[in-house]
Amino acid sequence: MKMSKAYIPTLKETPSEAEVVSHKLMLRAGMMRKLSSGIYTYLPLGQKVIQKIEEIVREEMNREGAQELLLPALQPAELWQESERWNDYGPELMRLQDRHDRDFCLGPTHEEVITDLVRDEVRSYKDLPLNLYQVQTKFRDEIRPRFGVLRGREFIMKDGYSFDVDEAGLEENYQKMFDAYDRIFDRCGLDFRPVVADNGAIGGSESHEFMVLADSGEDTVVFCSECDYAANLELAVSDVKFVIGDEEKAEIEKVETPGVDTIESLAKFLDFPESKLIKTLAYQTEDGYVLALVRGDYQLNEIKLRNLLGAPNLEMADGEELLDDTGVVTGFAGPIETSGEVKVVADPSVMEVVNGVTGANEADYHYVNVNAKRDFDVDEIADIREIKEEESCIYCGGDLTLTKGIEVGQVFKLGTKYSEALGATYLDNNGKAQPMVMGCYGIGITRTVAAAIEQNHDEYGIIWPAAIAPYEVSLLTLGDGEVLETGQELYQNLKSAGIDVLFDERKERAGVKFNDADLIGASVRITIGSRSLAEGKVEVKVRSTGDDFNIKVDNVIDKVA
Ligand code: ATP
Ligand code: MG
Ligand code: MG
Ligand code: MG
Repeated sequence: MKMSKAYIPTLKETPSEAEVVSHKLMLRAGMMRKLSSGIYTYLPLGQKVIQKIEEIVREEMNREGAQELLLPALQPAELWQESERWNDYGPELMRLQDRHDRDFCLGPTHEEVITDLVRDEVRSYKDLPLNLYQVQTKFRDEIRPRFGVLRGREFIMKDGYSFDVDEAGLEENYQKMFDAYDRIFDRCGLDFRPVVADNGAIGGSESHEFMVLADSGEDTVVFCSECDYAANLELAVSDVKFVIGDEEKAEIEKVETPGVDTIESLAKFLDFPESKLIKTLAYQTEDGYVLALVRGDYQLNEIKLRNLLGAPNLEMADGEELLDDTGVVTGFAGPIETSGEVKVVADPSVMEVVNGVTGANEADYHYVNVNAKRDFDVDEIADIREIKEEESCIYCGGDLTLTKGIEVGQVFKLGTKYSEALGATYLDNNGKAQPMVMGCYGIGITRTVAAAIEQNHDEYGIIWPAAIAPYEVSLLTLGDGEVLETGQELYQNLKSAGIDVLFDERKERAGVKFNDADLIGASVRITIGSRSLAEGKVEVKVRSTGDDFNIKVDNVIDKVA
């Protein structure tokens, strides 16, 4: 591509709305422009990087036997009502109506649509396993769209779904996808780690996130230096006043729940969506009580909670007889008698839940219509980092470190949550209908572009990992006549050699060309000037190291290829 023809509108000044470096550089390098909050146009340079990443993703997905399809972005509400997510997904779901006042949404994810497809098509165990994926635009009305494409409201995702006859099959597919993700992010040249993750609103059992390590990351990840324990701590800690026992709160309703002894039986008893149940876990530490508030579908593991609290010897608070085997306090709301200050560890999504259910400090009773934000007096959310720094790993005693990470991908074992809700069954070899066992696998394509920049830049611009660079080579001519002619020739030769080259043949000052080349971040810069050309040479500069040397024009192709 010739720079004089290319639509790469670089900017000298940093746009004021951009807080993080990738956002700034993507705007400055002319990769994208903002249309509206969290909604971006990808210009040719941005689109090129997106395509390179997509290509790597496709190759590695296909290598594991996954097959690409394309599902609709526009989805009827009925499907989401069947899975009960029309309500549960909350305000992040972009909803709209057609001319007949029928409800639709713009897909934030595609479990419902793919399960609907497969339930109509797959009959027998002989049709399974199946692993299908797509690369598509997703819509999420994020509460705080920010950091450019790191958290957009419209973004590109690769999402994949596997269907198996049993857990063993799912395990196999999960492992394949895990390995594919490892190779994808490796090939993209990223410094990343897979970490144990929570399942959030999607539900299911096991999950890992792929985290790109970067200070601008919104997630906090804990690593052990000795063993391979690595986990996301998607929890926030705060000191709160514990007021749930206050029955004066008009909206809280106390209901009798005889015989209910697990969170699941409670959900059934109250006919309450499990995802909205607030699990209350009460622990006693040296400093007093700790109450953990987590959503019903939230897999809070005790190890993580201990690490988080920096209290390896947590003891359950009073009322142990009311604990189920996961340590969930089901009969009451924890240490209610300590009506003063207790520490609350809360899954941030709990704060968003309206109409939660929690124990009522009394066997066989629960409170319904509990709102964590309203009924638990949460002041400020402390940074987990502060209380965690000198913690040791509870598996091996090794040092733990906390790092910020950007979640670029996640793999989930969904199990039968969606296949049961939507009736996606197959006939086993006894002719009996069984729910398919599902997994789902996402990669944020556009987020990966930004994450790569967060990790690979300097004060002058982007330093692309070679595999995803929009251009491998920036070729600059400083002058015309023989310089320009040599440039034209070299440009053709580089292209013939299959090298992606951006040829800056503009009549611009050297400084302008150098600045643009550094900003755009091709791996190698080749400069042709009259002085070195007099010796038959050109200057080659490696963007990442800054190393430069002069080589003979004739040797360029060999050297660069
Ligand atoms: P986050 O925790 O950052 O909100 P998520 O867990 O909600 O992400 P998933 O549902 O796991 O996201 O979606 C799969 C992938 O899609 C994520 O790993 C991430 O890379 C990407 N992604 C999710 N939300 C956004 C967004 N708002 N903008 C850009 N990419 C996103
Ligand atoms: Mg999210
Ligand atoms: Mg997440
Ligand atoms: Mg996720």
